[in-house]
Amino acid sequence: MARAKARRESEISLVIFDKDGTLIHFDEMWSGWMEQTVDAINDALRGRFPLGDVAVDSAKVKAAIFDAMGYDPVARKAVSKKPLACAPMPLLRQVTADAVAGACPGLDAAVIETAMVKGWDREVDWVALAHPRGDLRALFLWLRTELKVKIAVCTTDDYEPTIQTLKAFNVLELVEVVVCGDKPGPPLPPKPSPEQLQHICRKAGVDLNRDGVVMVGDTVTDMKMGQGANCVMNIGVLGGASTVEDLSEEADVIIPDLDHLPKLLSRISDNRETWL
Ligand SMILES: [Mg+2]
Repeated sequence: MARAKARRESEISLVIFDKDGTLIHFDEMWSGWMEQTVDAINDALRGRFPLGDVAVDSAKVKAAIFDAMGYDPVARKAVSKKPLACAPMPLLRQVTADAVAGACPGLDAAVIETAMVKGWDREVDWVALAHPRGDLRALFLWLRTELKVKIAVCTTDDYEPTIQTLKAFNVLELVEVVVCGDKPGPPLPPKPSPEQLQHICRKAGVDLNRDGVVMVGDTVTDMKMGQGANCVMNIGVLGGASTVEDLSEEADVIIPDLDHLPKLLSRISDNRETWL
């Protein structure tokens, strides 16, 4: 925190939230999706080799994908710092396809891609899978009307499901800028590159070097991104895709859930000279 001392001249201007694991319950969304995706890929491969081709071992495929993605099927949780916890969808797709290829030596690449299309690109009801971590509308209204800050969302997830989810939670109109793994705009380097936050601040009319920008996320990747962008505070939220040990390495402050955010931000806003 000392790095920001005597540099800020204005109150907190912008709070940027990660989505998965921060605004919504991570494992409730992604454990179901992960397991259904692997089952669909195995179904597609079995459909291609109904007599049990020796090149396709469903249990091996499942274990290889879970291992490569960083998914613990016993705990039904994403593993901290692994791809499922923090990588964008295109990278997750590639990791999955590579895991299938590794588990099925000699299997034709076109067969793998067909299975990937059936497994990965199937219809998913993302809104039904998304469960908010608290009353997001009340929190966002408080941020906008009481603390008088702008709100942004920066997620590795894709744009369409993100917008659908924010709409379903009745908070989309309260969010100034949404930046996702795939769009909008030209491709930006993934987290933890600070460019997504820099882009958000430009869009929101906020100066990262002058105005107070706070990053709120559940992973080390979010915290590193906030540090790289020179955010005044990087707040780690427990209960997402990280352990407290991992988060404590990079976060300035750790809170158990979003219910603790208003009190923390109020104190920061009221006592800026003591924390900046
Ligand atoms: Mg997250």
